[in-house]
Amino acid sequence: MDRLGIVVPCYNEEEVLKIASEALRGVLADLTAKGKIAGDSFILFVNDGSKDRTWALIEEEHEKYPEQVRGVKLAGNVGHQYALTAGLLTARDMCDMTVSIDADLQDDVAVIEEMIDKFHEGKDIVYGVRRERKTDTFFKRTTAQAFYKLMALMGVKTVYNHADFRLMSRRAVEQFSQYGESNLFLRGIIPLIGYETDCVHYDRKERVAGESKYPLKKMLALAFNGISSFSVKPITLILGLGLIIILFSLLAAVYALISYFSGHVVPGWTSLILSIWFLGGLQLLAIGLVGQYIGKIYIEVKQRPRYNIEKVL
Ligand code: UDP
Ligand code: MG
Repeated sequence: MDRLGIVVPCYNEEEVLKIASEALRGVLADLTAKGKIAGDSFILFVNDGSKDRTWALIEEEHEKYPEQVRGVKLAGNVGHQYALTAGLLTARDMCDMTVSIDADLQDDVAVIEEMIDKFHEGKDIVYGVRRERKTDTFFKRTTAQAFYKLMALMGVKTVYNHADFRLMSRRAVEQFSQYGESNLFLRGIIPLIGYETDCVHYDRKERVAGESKYPLKKMLALAFNGISSFSVKPITLILGLGLIIILFSLLAAVYALISYFSGHVVPGWTSLILSIWFLGGLQLLAIGLVGQYIGKIYIEVKQRPRYNIEKVL
């Protein structure tokens, strides 16, 4: 029977920890009873340098339910993406599949069963996808959707409306661990792994308690990190802009020369305007060109796995 590890990153979650623990233990008990997971499946809480009683509560839960509740304490706050990674890599050798979920239970724990079913059908990665965003504020909804669209425009492959609620098989986590990059944007990396994947749909709820640990500042940082770690398109845009401006300066040259010969100009204007446009375009072009090399170096230093072999006959 396959053992499940549920990974839960927690930052200042004292209000929700016990509720989350109870709900997730309920899921474990239910799935064990149905014979879908092994009896020694567990929840792994990752304390991401919380300043409140979160870790004390995790210890309490572990004492009460030593089999089901485990904990990892990070030495300081490193942010959701890294806390989740720490949890996945810790759980990797202890289970056959992991499900990552936020502590605030906004994601529907009821669809974990569906994820496990898909795992048994042979899927290695199952994404939890939000059906609607009724409970999110208008601001969060529009900014988040603009973000997914911008990512797509920049050529980053992500799953639309999927945050970090997902099932990963042990070998998928294994392959994920090969990505040694320091700027982690999980939603961009996981689709690079490959294997058979699937989605389950759910309605996102409101936080059971406490408030969001993702203020606008952190959201913007995540968005910029997502784009800059996966795409050198912004640099290519500069190169394109340089080209366009140089072409434009050629048109401007024609216009300026016509003005010059028809005698409607102040002396010096023609050479000045031509230099401004041409040199401006040339500089952008040169920056864009240098940028192409920097982009290549950037991709090289990441040393990402170039492929993932699933089977050899
Ligand atoms: N989180 C974390 N470290 C941080 C910020 C958040 O581990 O620095 C965790 C948090 O405890 C929660 C999850 O990441 O389990 C998602 O955060 P939150 O629910 O506040 O984000 P939102 O749903 O509002 O986007
Ligand atoms: Mg949340």
